[in-house]
Amino acid sequence: MMIPIESLRNALAPCLDAQGFIPGDQVQERYCTDWSGARGQPLAVLRPTNSAQVAEVMRACHGMRQPVVVQGGMTGLVGSCVPQAGEVVLSLERLNQIEEIDLISSTATVQAGVCLQTLQEAVEEKYLFFPVDIGSRGSCHIGGLIATNAGGNRVLRYGMTRQSVRGLEVVLADGTLINRMGKAIKDNAGFDTKQIFIGSEGTLGVITRAVLALEPLPCARQSALISLDGFGAVTDLLWHCKNRLGPRLSSFEVMWRDFFDFSVGKLKRGPPGLNLSGTHVVLVEAMGMDSAPDEALFLDALSGFSDQHPACEMVLARSMADAQAIWSIREAAGEAAQAVSPWAGFDVSLPIADMPVWVDGIHTQLRSLDLTQTQTYGHLGDGNLHLVVGVTTDPVLKAKVTELVHSTIGALGGSISGEHGIGFAKKPHLHLCRSAADIGIMKQLKHNFDPFGLLNPGRVLDLP
Ligand SMILES: Cc1cc2nc3c(=O)[nH]c(=O)nc-3n(C[C@H](O)[C@H](O)[C@H](O)COP(=O)(O)OP(=O)(O)OC[C@H]3O[C@@H](n4cnc5c(N)ncnc54)[C@H](O)[C@@H]3O)c2cc1C
Repeated sequence: MMIPIESLRNALAPCLDAQGFIPGDQVQERYCTDWSGARGQPLAVLRPTNSAQVAEVMRACHGMRQPVVVQGGMTGLVGSCVPQAGEVVLSLERLNQIEEIDLISSTATVQAGVCLQTLQEAVEEKYLFFPVDIGSRGSCHIGGLIATNAGGNRVLRYGMTRQSVRGLEVVLADGTLINRMGKAIKDNAGFDTKQIFIGSEGTLGVITRAVLALEPLPCARQSALISLDGFGAVTDLLWHCKNRLGPRLSSFEVMWRDFFDFSVGKLKRGPPGLNLSGTHVVLVEAMGMDSAPDEALFLDALSGFSDQHPACEMVLARSMADAQAIWSIREAAGEAAQAVSPWAGFDVSLPIADMPVWVDGIHTQLRSLDLTQTQTYGHLGDGNLHLVVGVTTDPVLKAKVTELVHSTIGALGGSISGEHGIGFAKKPHLHLCRSAADIGIMKQLKHNFDPFGLLNPGRVLDLP
């Protein structure tokens, strides 16, 4: 039964200040929709300013059996932060302080609502580096990154967000606050319970603060675009770069022609006059600590490759501006998807060796449905591909395309979500890549942490 707005306001008044409660009829659009395009209207938006207030709010909502959806920067792509009927939004946007940058431990202690780019810039001023990097860096929050275990452009070298989380503070659905904010790398005192919240898409707890591991700031960065004919040449290049650059290899992003042509041709991204003819274009990036030798190693590695593949074409970045121009092609992904709206977006992972046959097969089947607007690209070094398909507004056709993509991925032993998560958008197909026993464990965990199903209800899993 829906709680009247005045009862809700009165119950939450002791927990929040005057800016902390926005009734549903006054909420701005940014609380209603994420990047998936889904939209919903919340009963109210709650905006606490610290962890204690989050705990009080959750305790009060638990007492009233009031469903809550947690929001970070609203850049999610699977609809899980979009409010459903009868839900209140818990926005972490006012928990936005970088509490400490500890040079000796190489850690940053941050509140969940700190924007990724703000953190990246703050630590770089101290010659440190937060390696998680994604295209939505200017809007997404640290809490959202952790809740989705975001991947991004440098997973190949530094791992997913999980690898950068040292400590976590979490508030459970009943308001219990769990503080695991240790800075040490080693802690084998019992189960590492914080891991269960990372990537749980806000269904098991609200992340309020985190201790993040920082790396030394790489002072040398080399980027190149390499155009190749055939997927075999792409995998040759991947192994060549891994062997020759070792741990310096930080990104290996691949763009099929459908995406590359859209970004360069339609969106006018990339350096002026860029003209590459291969079937695939790879963006390779290396990062190191020693400018001159690292650059020599990078050039040597690429020239060794072009000796073996004389037909390949290369564009090297000679300056930071060149590197930004090269990266702008790949970073146009969000804009490119919006430009073919309505679109269906996929984020699959599969064995690298299976990718060319899978992509060709899907493209052929899409063409047979008269769907020719595709964009194919991905973090190939991580076995993660993105496919955007311009569909009509016809929901039946969209469902057919989704079924087609996900069922073929399940059959290959891949995953229907390499990095964006399940949310609502992919929930019907979770069983295609996770066994019934595995889903059963997820349901048990959800039941243990949130027996009344009040936190992000209906996301990831269907519970009775
Ligand atoms: C242009 C663009 C590029 C992107 N590139 C990538 C990419 O390369 N790799 C990648 O992995 N993702 C990518 N994404 C997806 C998205 O940016 C990430 O999933 C990001 O981590 C979401 O963070 P957010 O703060 O916006 O979270 P939101 O969208 O607000 O929320 C996402 C989920 O996390 C939950 N949540 C948010 N904050 C908390 C919290 N404090 N405690 C508990 N749960 C919380 C929400 O309930 C929801 O389930 C991209 C998105 C865009 C628009």
